[in-house]
Amino acid sequence: MRAVIVGGGIGGLCAALALRRSGWEVTVLERAPRFGAVGAGITLMANALTGLDALGVGAEVRAQGSIDAPGGTRTPDGRWLARINAGELAAALGTAALGIHRATLHGVLLAALPPAALVTDAAVTAVEPGAVVCTAGRHPADLVVAADGIDSTIRHQLWPSAAPPRYVGTTAWRGVTDEPWPGELTVAITWGAGTEFGIVPLGDGRVYWFAATNAPEGTRSPDEKAAVRAIVGDWHDPVPALLDATTTVLHHDLRHLPEPLPTYVRGPVALLGDAAHAMTPNLGQGAAQAIEDAVVLGAACTPGRPLAEALADYDDRRRPRSQSVARASYRIGRVGQQLTQPMLVAARNAAIRWTPPRVALRSMARYADWRP
Ligand SMILES: Cc1cc2nc3c(=O)[nH]c(=O)nc-3n(C[C@H](O)[C@H](O)[C@H](O)COP(=O)(O)OP(=O)(O)OC[C@H]3O[C@@H](n4cnc5c(N)ncnc54)[C@H](O)[C@@H]3O)c2cc1C
Repeated sequence: MRAVIVGGGIGGLCAALALRRSGWEVTVLERAPRFGAVGAGITLMANALTGLDALGVGAEVRAQGSIDAPGGTRTPDGRWLARINAGELAAALGTAALGIHRATLHGVLLAALPPAALVTDAAVTAVEPGAVVCTAGRHPADLVVAADGIDSTIRHQLWPSAAPPRYVGTTAWRGVTDEPWPGELTVAITWGAGTEFGIVPLGDGRVYWFAATNAPEGTRSPDEKAAVRAIVGDWHDPVPALLDATTTVLHHDLRHLPEPLPTYVRGPVALLGDAAHAMTPNLGQGAAQAIEDAVVLGAACTPGRPLAEALADYDDRRRPRSQSVARASYRIGRVGQQLTQPMLVAARNAAIRWTPPRVALRSMARYADWRP
């Protein structure tokens, strides 16, 4: 049985690993001239790592990442709103979260796949009965996995009435320090009014940071680092120093799929990852949900099982969970980073300050607690 996977992002590569484990012959079609990842770092929550374990690459990913011990939440002047006992969280979930460079993660996934399964310069234009059509030719397929991201060509073709991706009102910058960070690093998420800043250590000692703020869609600056500095340059240490230590800054507007899809499956085609449920990054769950999708798809599509039954099973198991995580992620952005009114910001901060640590841990564990 042949599976063609459209898109070689985290979701597509994990789907390839998962289906190969179930005996499928796989081809991954990627439109870019080479497989890789734009972007800085990424946090892999416990459920993402559990999923990668199920795909046989968890140990290698852990070896190349850095335990992300979230120190808690701070205000821009450096006061702590909440401290998190990362060890207790990791014990509850069976694994700690991890910070890793996206290129490193991609490298681990690619190394676990046979080069012959990976085709670049192959932009898919359509799915036809029994085949996928791309700029590199036609590829026969018994199963098509559409892992082609938030602007999915295949979702557009086969789910024509689906609501298009929508800007959520927040724009985000990401960077990685040029060199390993000297000395101690206090890891935290800092929430101001309408703005947040996060710090994530990477495996090689460098630091991934992100900043997000409310802005009209498409706002751009000739000097993106200066734009970030104008917003958080007077925040607590080490925020300004991290900006100083970074040369390249990426800037993207945050979008999501505003309406949940009624199904992730049409005939032999399954949507996966952002193509199915693009969400805001507030819970750090987008890639984690793509990895979960891949594990469940591989487990559902076992040899000899009718494909229609397997895909219905995949849809049943994945749609409710991924859509509820997407909803929660959007909500957290609305009541967290996006709040600007001083009274509401003060109320939010008081709520974080007075939430008992046990309750905070439980709510953090809620979405990351998943077993294949
Ligand atoms: C600012 C920000 C921070 C984030 N932080 C986190 C985090 O900390 N943790 C986390 O879990 N998630 C995070 N996410 C979400 C995460 O990045 C995405 O959910 C995840 O990368 C989605 O993977 P994917 O493979 O589904 O899609 P994508 O990564 O978009 O991959 C799609 C691939 O398909 C290819 N493609 C597209 N169209 C075609 C076509 N027609 N033919 C062939 N190939 C095609 C693309 O080139 C691309 O390689 C963050 C997102 C943002 C924006």
